[in-house]
Amino acid sequence: MEYRRLGKSGLQLSELSLGSWLTFGKQIENDIAEELMHIAYDQGVNFFDNAEIYANGESEIVMGEILKKANWSRDSYVVSSKVFFGIQGLVDSKPTQKGLSRKHVTEACHQALKRLQVEYLDLFFCHRPDKETPIEETVWAMHNLITQGKILYWGTSEWSAQEIMEAHMVARQYNLIPPTMEQPQYNMLHRDKFEVEFDQLYKNVGMGTTIWSPLASGVLSGKYNGGAKPTDTRLGIEGLEWLKDKTITSENLARIDQLNELAQGLNLSMPVFAIAWCLKNPNVSTVMLGASKTSQLVENFSAIEAKSKLTPTVMEEIEKILNNTPIRPNF
Ligand code: NDP
Repeated sequence: MEYRRLGKSGLQLSELSLGSWLTFGKQIENDIAEELMHIAYDQGVNFFDNAEIYANGESEIVMGEILKKANWSRDSYVVSSKVFFGIQGLVDSKPTQKGLSRKHVTEACHQALKRLQVEYLDLFFCHRPDKETPIEETVWAMHNLITQGKILYWGTSEWSAQEIMEAHMVARQYNLIPPTMEQPQYNMLHRDKFEVEFDQLYKNVGMGTTIWSPLASGVLSGKYNGGAKPTDTRLGIEGLEWLKDKTITSENLARIDQLNELAQGLNLSMPVFAIAWCLKNPNVSTVMLGASKTSQLVENFSAIEAKSKLTPTVMEEIEKILNNTPIRPNF
């Protein structure tokens, strides 16, 4: 396992990490979640990602139990939570139970600490921007949680470059601790924001990134190609039709067919190939994996060795197949 600095911070994260969205407390049994975390930790993974909204808090409860039972030294791993959606989601939460007000940010932190059974969160993310709360209030709230020792680093998820810079400006103005990292979606099929919009932030403020959905929720594994319709998978879960419609498109499947051929020529499976591609980007601090089966996680770790097979020539071939190179402004 290789470790990368989270942006300009001194925190080193394993380049592959493990997330719990839709799996822990929901799609998979707790003993599988436990096995996944142990496989990951034994491989050198030191970052486990979570959020208040995942399985309505249940995901944090499951992870907390596993961490307690494993009894790993607290200084050997990093655990996160995210605040914004509330426990019941935006629609069912009361106004004070969601968003990025000082009240909800503080209470969500306290609740996550309890569910995860830890004394502090290493990373605490604002899961989305909140149009109803002045950015000053959120930056102050995060700064205060850091000074109280309840969180160590704070960051954002799916914020725009402008919103992230605004948070930095506020932090500069009041001498507060600025956000360290952003959690954006990044994979072969979803690139523009990460590669173009954020470009200046890597250089100018040393932003770190914990990227999500490296397999576009499993589509990039190739298992939906060739007319296959697996039902025991994420995109067969009731209520996730929106995700299925967005990701399983004829254009994506056609690209994946060609990518798969290229991967096979290199003796790589499609998921390993797609994850290795994410790792090739130096602005990625860690690729967060998701898995519903232990065999998937074991397979996906091969992406570490696979990186060396993605030579500049192979990367060019990939670029041609993807045909989605983000366009940079020409000035
Ligand atoms: P992926 O895009 O990698 O999807 C993971 C899913 O793909 C697995 O649960 C599994 O689903 C399938 N899969 C994984 N490996 C394989 C394989 N080798 N072969 C076949 N299928 C495979 O990542 P996630 O979408 O799970 O994102 C990773 C983490 O990022 C999340 O757990 C969460 O912590 C975070 N995240 C953050 C978000 C945010 O807004 N900040 C949003 C989304 C995620 P199945 O077997 O059911 O098909």
